[in-house]
Amino acid sequence: MGKEIKEIDLDQENKIIVKSYRSLLKSIRRVLTKEDKALIREAFELSLEAHKNMRRKSGEPYILHPLAVAQICAEEIGLGVTSVVCALLHDTVEDTDITLDLVKLKFGSKVSRIIDGLTKISGVFDQPDRSIQAENFKKMLLTLSDDVRVILIKLADRLHNMRTLDSMSPKSQLKIASETAYVYAPLAHRLGLYAIKSELEDLSTKYLQAENYAFVKNKLNETKVQRNKYIRNFIEPLNSDMEKAGFKFEIKGRPKSIHSILNKMKKQNVTFEEVYDLFAIRVIVDTDIEHEKSDCWKVYSIVTDHYTPNPDRLRDWVSTPKANGYESLHTTLMGPKGRWVEVQIRTKRMDEIAEKGFAAHWKYKESSANSDNGLEGWLARIRDVLENQDANALEFLDDFKLALYSDEIFVFTPKGDLKKLPAGATVLDFAFDIHTDLGAKCIGAKLNNKLVPLNHQLNNGDQVEILSSAKQKPNEEWLDFVVTAKAKSKIREYFKQLRLKASALGKEILERKFKNAKIPYSSDALHSLMKHFKLKTVTDLYYQLANEIIDRTKIDIESILAAEKNRVPELPSVQPKTKTVILPNDAIILSENEANMDYGFAKCCSPIPGDEIFGFITVGEGVKIHRTSCPNAVALMSNYGYRIIKAKWANASDVSPKAFLSSIKVSGIDSVGIVSIITDIISKQLQINMKSISITSNEGMFEGNIVLQVHDTRQLENIMDSIKSASELITVNRVDLG
Ligand code: MN
Repeated sequence: MGKEIKEIDLDQENKIIVKSYRSLLKSIRRVLTKEDKALIREAFELSLEAHKNMRRKSGEPYILHPLAVAQICAEEIGLGVTSVVCALLHDTVEDTDITLDLVKLKFGSKVSRIIDGLTKISGVFDQPDRSIQAENFKKMLLTLSDDVRVILIKLADRLHNMRTLDSMSPKSQLKIASETAYVYAPLAHRLGLYAIKSELEDLSTKYLQAENYAFVKNKLNETKVQRNKYIRNFIEPLNSDMEKAGFKFEIKGRPKSIHSILNKMKKQNVTFEEVYDLFAIRVIVDTDIEHEKSDCWKVYSIVTDHYTPNPDRLRDWVSTPKANGYESLHTTLMGPKGRWVEVQIRTKRMDEIAEKGFAAHWKYKESSANSDNGLEGWLARIRDVLENQDANALEFLDDFKLALYSDEIFVFTPKGDLKKLPAGATVLDFAFDIHTDLGAKCIGAKLNNKLVPLNHQLNNGDQVEILSSAKQKPNEEWLDFVVTAKAKSKIREYFKQLRLKASALGKEILERKFKNAKIPYSSDALHSLMKHFKLKTVTDLYYQLANEIIDRTKIDIESILAAEKNRVPELPSVQPKTKTVILPNDAIILSENEANMDYGFAKCCSPIPGDEIFGFITVGEGVKIHRTSCPNAVALMSNYGYRIIKAKWANASDVSPKAFLSSIKVSGIDSVGIVSIITDIISKQLQINMKSISITSNEGMFEGNIVLQVHDTRQLENIMDSIKSASELITVNRVDLG
């Protein structure tokens, strides 16, 4: 192959390119066939040609980037030829003239599908709108469940971009670094790529917390000699005992990542000097699969012969591996000079999986003693969530991120089967995890033989027996405490179906009524009915009919319509049970989709009827109503455009005479009796309730705040006008309550 390379013009740059290409080939650890080599060569040459006039921000030839990404795939993730080919081509379809069809023609459909996936997710975070980001992210995960190599190559791409981030502008550095911390590092964590996860975290910390990063890095350098000496002393007695016991092994002392040290300093509010576990000792035994477990515990016994373990800090992921496939035995021991030292004990196989994730897992798959492939389970959960096609993309993103970050707990079924759930999972999450129907009918559980409610949080090792009742139905409040994406999406789905069913049924009832009465079914007629029953939306009307809040046997369309036409308020023959109607929306009409959401008034601008308003969908508190003139409006609208909904006041007649709080500021030149003039106007003349009044005067000027109970803006304006006209010395302004 040397011959072909000579055809490339050999200047300095090309030497570097050729060198990286050779280094790539060497990094693929499996034996390459002739066909493999030809395929990689072809991908390399196509990419080289396509990118030939492009340079990276650093000035180097662009091709060095796909070469580096391919090398990361092979060397650091352990991927094979297909992935290397895809990595070499990963930017071609998006950035050059190469088409997907050409890729398919030359490399087949498997490669072209992966390239297609990579092209589609490339712009995920380029959208300023978070809802589009979320939608794209969902698409990205759909490709993930299709072929996980798309995500692995994407991670390699991101890792190389992070390693070379210095040449980007500070603005891009911040953007790319925060995306990395937000999505890519947790994704790498979930996929079990520990080395890559740590590096991504450290690199993003380097840009996001530049000063802190430099500080810890410096400290680590300063203490290096001292630390290494301590590690050597600690390891010495272990080394000789392990040899005596006849183990093939390796013991390493490894500093913790800067990111995790900083995290500890922040979380525990301690100084660098007070972080006790700056490093971890790792004992790696080379043993065959049958002896893995017993050998790990033998090592544990040797280690604890020399140092006293902290019993609260033993973690056994050998017996029950983490969902992402991680297996290891962790213990924290009291070392020399009274310092706690973490020791990780694992086999060579476990170590490789821990470093390279499940790609290494595949290598061992057939011989693996543990049939539960963690990644498969995780992907199945993701698929579960994705199946719910209509799930709001943002909700999905939040649920998903929750799933990415959460640690897990292990609990048992009554039969002793082990279930993995995210930390914080409740009895109800467990029920939904077993079966959707069991979740929907769950009323509580017996936990280690004690009765506990639905929202009880489970702990490691709990044995859970779900109690159910045929009468039980999902409740919207359940959404407040479940944590698993599965439970959330199933509960949401239930209510969505319920509303759909109810309104379909209600519509049917109504149409039949119209037909029987021989009245054409028109939107005018529907409006009259809505008016009659004091309802805001057609959906409300359908819903109330379906749920018999409106007595359908007594509804007489003809007379209602006639009555409405003649503007006679009520006919004695019709007695809608309006008293039992609990409408959440009595003052505000929200746009159709959000019509049934709870709402409240924002404290920052305290809107009252008559104000121009909009709704803002909050997390967990329903819709907050703001004035369009609210000082926060601009920020909300520009950052969260997708969470803004239309809202308007219901007709005054429909609104319960609930008084709204509003606040005015009075100020002016102090004169005798100013307070009584103002209070007289408000409470005697206008008979308005004052909630509070405070007036202070200073050097001949006064200033005061009055909180009033009013019905609407008209009334408020009236008050303000009356005060103003009482004296030229007073100015009055409306102010925000908060
Ligand atoms: Mn790239």
